[in-house]
Amino acid sequence: MKRGTCKHFYGCDKPCGKGHDIREVVGEEDTGWLLRIPCITIAAGNMSGSQRSHWNRRVSCVDYTEPTEAEITEFDADMEAHLKRLAAVKPLIKKIKEDAAEDAMGETKCPVCDNTLRWSISSFNGHVWMKCSTQGCVSVVE
Ligand SMILES: [Zn+2]
Repeated sequence: MKRGTCKHFYGCDKPCGKGHDIREVVGEEDTGWLLRIPCITIAAGNMSGSQRSHWNRRVSCVDYTEPTEAEITEFDADMEAHLKRLAAVKPLIKKIKEDAAEDAMGETKCPVCDNTLRWSISSFNGHVWMKCSTQGCVSVVE
């Protein structure tokens, strides 16, 4: 969540938090449609003349809502905490991958909060799933 981006925006490939199909909202031709979305109001970087022309024809959305400074601060803090938890379990994920030759699951002590951390690994794709029993702590789905 950041300044200049609607707080309902989760990406162009899915409906927003208000249920709008962003491609339908934009309408018109496919070329440059990503530059015409109403969800982002601060341009990132330099644009070519053609890109600028699409940008200048951005559509509007009745539900565009700028996040408050408090929401941005809370989001950033949540993201930072999430990244710290990920960094804390990264060695554990690596070890599980090294040790598991087939489908496996187990429990271990959560490196973040010491509670029970359940995990499993798929022999099909080698992806690890992990969830701490503490609400809001580690949750990994590769
Ligand atoms: Zn935990």
